[in-house]
Amino acid sequence: MDHHEVLIVGGGNAGISLAAKLIRDGAQDVAIIESESTHRYRPMLNYVGGGEATMSDLERPASTVMPDGATWIRDRVTSCDPVGQSVTTRDGRTIHYTTLVVATGLDEDWDATPGLTTGYAVGWAGSTFVVESAPKVWPALRQLTSGRVVFSMPPEPAPCAATALKPLFMACDHWRRAGVLEALDVHLVLPGPTPIGVAKADVILEDALTAYGVQVLRNARVTRVGDRQVTVASPEGETEIGDLSYAHVIPGYRAPGWITDSDLAGAGEAGLVDVDPLTLRHRRHENVWSLGDVAVLGIKPSGGALRKQVAVLSPNLLASDPKDLQHYDGYTVMPITVGRHQLMLVEIDREGRPAPSVPAPDLVRPRRLTWAVDRYALPVTYFRRILREKV
Ligand SMILES: Cc1cc2nc3c(=O)[nH]c(=O)nc-3n(C[C@H](O)[C@H](O)[C@H](O)COP(=O)(O)OP(=O)(O)OC[C@H]3O[C@@H](n4cnc5c(N)ncnc54)[C@H](O)[C@@H]3O)c2cc1C
Repeated sequence: MDHHEVLIVGGGNAGISLAAKLIRDGAQDVAIIESESTHRYRPMLNYVGGGEATMSDLERPASTVMPDGATWIRDRVTSCDPVGQSVTTRDGRTIHYTTLVVATGLDEDWDATPGLTTGYAVGWAGSTFVVESAPKVWPALRQLTSGRVVFSMPPEPAPCAATALKPLFMACDHWRRAGVLEALDVHLVLPGPTPIGVAKADVILEDALTAYGVQVLRNARVTRVGDRQVTVASPEGETEIGDLSYAHVIPGYRAPGWITDSDLAGAGEAGLVDVDPLTLRHRRHENVWSLGDVAVLGIKPSGGALRKQVAVLSPNLLASDPKDLQHYDGYTVMPITVGRHQLMLVEIDREGRPAPSVPAPDLVRPRRLTWAVDRYALPVTYFRRILREKV
């Protein structure tokens, strides 16, 4: 029988980091199911879309990030039987487990925005959040000297949605330096009333949006896409933004469908895995756990949040007494460029209170040094240390 002690579904940031930590903590039989042959450091996609990086800066063969000692199963899970403790895969295998960890991240939900796929296919729409589209964003934005452009921030759940502001601000700064910003009509569609819902950071972001002359639609989402036109719905009604030169519109997200079909999802529409947000253990199936973007954790998901989740989940998986289970504090992070080389780092806990990782300096204040760390130091740290759980 095909069986593993710990079976991790998904070899992204969460799955790889967790496997590395489990093995370091003494776990004997850890397997990762992941079909993709390329691993990506996804935060860098925004720098690709801002003309500051290339795809080769963020891609590595998956084989090079698999932790020593883990079994890599090159397949994809299509269903799970949490009572029988097994998953089935695209290739028709049945794999049994003692402990299951769901770390699949989110699926793009193209159906949520009718017409968006056509806009991407024709090329006047795109975004840094979609891997195939990211390298086409900067060539499209860089050459604009006039016209109308719309950017959107995806509603939750989404992978580090706040970073959708990065390509907007990098492009605006470029247009300002090129002397064409005033000839461009730039719109931003925000899902909430303020940019990110953190008061101190919002003041800085609102000032930057005003300085660049960006028109902001609040509590709003792109609901339909037509021919160089988007429909934006908000409590005030529907607004059509037409004659678009470019639409940086990000699709919606949801959990993979098999999670709902397998009684692993919670009540929310997006079908995220129903775990206790403190211990990361499933609320109904006690040998199922989850972390990362796909888990219901009551936070804005981010890669930075995973560091804390992995530190809690590995000992929890190995704990023999439920009384010893550790708690995840809900830490998450939002790194946002407000110019081409200026970055603010917003770190909060589950309640939205500041949770700075260093006491000083104040990293919310945009700085060039913080940008350099985000653009140059973090990608190196990610591949050398974060994925190997050496931070
Ligand atoms: C454009 C962009 C910019 C970002 N910027 C930042 C940033 O600046 N800072 C930050 O902290 N975070 C950032 N993030 C968020 C960060 O990348 C995610 O939070 C992080 O990647 C989540 O890791 P994960 O492992 O949960 O999911 P993923 O990274 O999505 O990995 C999931 C893996 O599971 C695999 N998988 C899915 N379904 C199955 C299945 N059925 N069977 C087997 N395998 C499966 C997938 O192939 C994938 O490899 C950004 C994300 C994006 C998209």
